[in-house]
Amino acid sequence: TRNLQGTLFQTIKNGMAFTLQERQILGLHGLLPPKVETQDIQAMRFQNNLKKMVDPLEKYVYLMGIQERNERLFYRVLMEDIEELMPIVYTPTVGLACTQYGHIFRRPKGLFISIRDKGHIRSILDNWPEPIVAAVVVTDGERILGLGDLGVYGMGIPVGKLCLYTACAGIRPERCLPVVIDVGTDNETLLKDPLYMGLYQKRDRSEAYEELIDEFMEAIVDKWGQDTLIQFEDFGNHNAFRLIRRYREKYCTFNDDIQGTASVALAGLLAAQRAVGKPITEHRVLFLGAGEAALGIANLIVMAMMEAGMTQADARQRIWMYDKHGLLIKEMDSNQEAFIHDSPGNVQSFLDAVNTIKPTAIIGVAGAGRLFTHDVIKSMGALNERPIIFALSNPTTKAECTAEDAYTLTDGRCLFASGSPFDPVTLKNGRVFTPGQGNNAYIFPGVALAVILIFLYSFQTLAEQLTDKELEEGRLYPPLSNIREVSVQMAVKVVEYVYANGMAFRYPEPLDKDSFVRSTVWDTSYDSFLPDTYDWPGVSFSPK
Ligand code: NAP
Ligand code: MN
Repeated sequence: TRNLQGTLFQTIKNGMAFTLQERQILGLHGLLPPKVETQDIQAMRFQNNLKKMVDPLEKYVYLMGIQERNERLFYRVLMEDIEELMPIVYTPTVGLACTQYGHIFRRPKGLFISIRDKGHIRSILDNWPEPIVAAVVVTDGERILGLGDLGVYGMGIPVGKLCLYTACAGIRPERCLPVVIDVGTDNETLLKDPLYMGLYQKRDRSEAYEELIDEFMEAIVDKWGQDTLIQFEDFGNHNAFRLIRRYREKYCTFNDDIQGTASVALAGLLAAQRAVGKPITEHRVLFLGAGEAALGIANLIVMAMMEAGMTQADARQRIWMYDKHGLLIKEMDSNQEAFIHDSPGNVQSFLDAVNTIKPTAIIGVAGAGRLFTHDVIKSMGALNERPIIFALSNPTTKAECTAEDAYTLTDGRCLFASGSPFDPVTLKNGRVFTPGQGNNAYIFPGVALAVILIFLYSFQTLAEQLTDKELEEGRLYPPLSNIREVSVQMAVKVVEYVYANGMAFRYPEPLDKDSFVRSTVWDTSYDSFLPDTYDWPGVSFSPK
């Protein structure tokens, strides 16, 4: 039976693309229809089926099924049509898939570690079937997109992020490990849901939590090495900041929501600045939200302003934050000390804040829905010739405004980006604007490909890759169809930096960094399943 299982496993791998010889040698012959199919034909069938589906969640389930059965085919189709399919495997549909996780569940993907497993994480890792893991994306499900605490239903996020590792940067899929850490959930709906799949308990917020994460980090590097990349994703605010401080010097790790988001937002600002014609030091930025994303972006803007010659104190003065309790000012109790300023006057609403502070850019990262009201957008349009409006909250329902509102209410003058995709907008005069997708998906695959974390370089590369023509179309980021090239270029930059600064650990140094990076990239063409067979031409075994 072992052989048969092995055989059936192989059957599903390449499907009808097995050659006649492979079918015969592997004992698959007769288990497949006679036709030997090319991957092109398989892809066509897959794409036709997808086109027939209208419901994004149905497409999600179908795509995830193909990923299980024929991974190379899945990635080929995903990569060929990344603009169309990224919104399915990633934001916004992945958000819906997470809320419905226990209902649409077919087969588990990734590793589930619960707080009841404390003391045994290392042996759980041994159950993972792949011998080499290069990158881990881990969540504890507490702040899934802008949807809040989804407990183990959050597994969709690490799975989706890692799909982009492979699709956007060519990282080998079998070396990627999605992990969800289950310490309970505070989501009452899930605790009452009979289909929920995690521990039915409130989130453990005791020291046991930190001990569990410590143990997890140690177990990962013990099994797969100190240079295993560990990406923290969608942790709650308090834990996110605490854990990145705790681990950043000790592990190869980053927090995507704080650091990845910062790079993509700054790249957008740099692109916008080209259109506005004002150096970064002359911008004034007002954030809606003062959490992980806001703080990460704000700190990177300060760094960019300092690189342009400003002092840190002056740079910080140009950045304001408005959170659930209002504008961050001295009288308020807040932990974002760096961005607390003297009260600028009577501010009762976000609109007041816009009118008082007169920002050149507003950045929405509150995860609380359409808070860039028509009045807010119009004010930005009145205050600025080219207002910068970033509605970065995910999924689409949580975005601070729609692309349509941003462009129409500013007569097409605004520079707009959103975390989840919006369709192009056509104004009455016929001009078409293509909104940029300001999402860390432009950053983390390329960063992961280089596996060394120098975020300061990733945003420069990204901004440099935007052509003037694309900027003209309203884009602040290169088209997603170029994302693989974006990732490769980013990795090349990082590799160059690492060698130039004596930080590399792989020698001899590759002379051509570009072809070195490209040679590591995975592709979707099928491998032969035949053993290494060859001839000995000219050899004769007759005695002379
Ligand atoms: P977070 O750390 O929880 O921060 C959320 C912030 O928004 C907090 O400061 C919160 O204030 C504030 N807030 C909540 N409701 C508000 C309201 N009604 N008015 C004003 N402020 C409000 O979360 P985060 O990691 O920064 O993520 C926030 C959002 O950004 C999410 O929707 C996420 O999807 C999105 N995001 C996008 C990207 C991207 O690449 N585009 C990347 C990361 C995150 P309190 O602390 O007082 O509650
Ligand atoms: Mn995230």
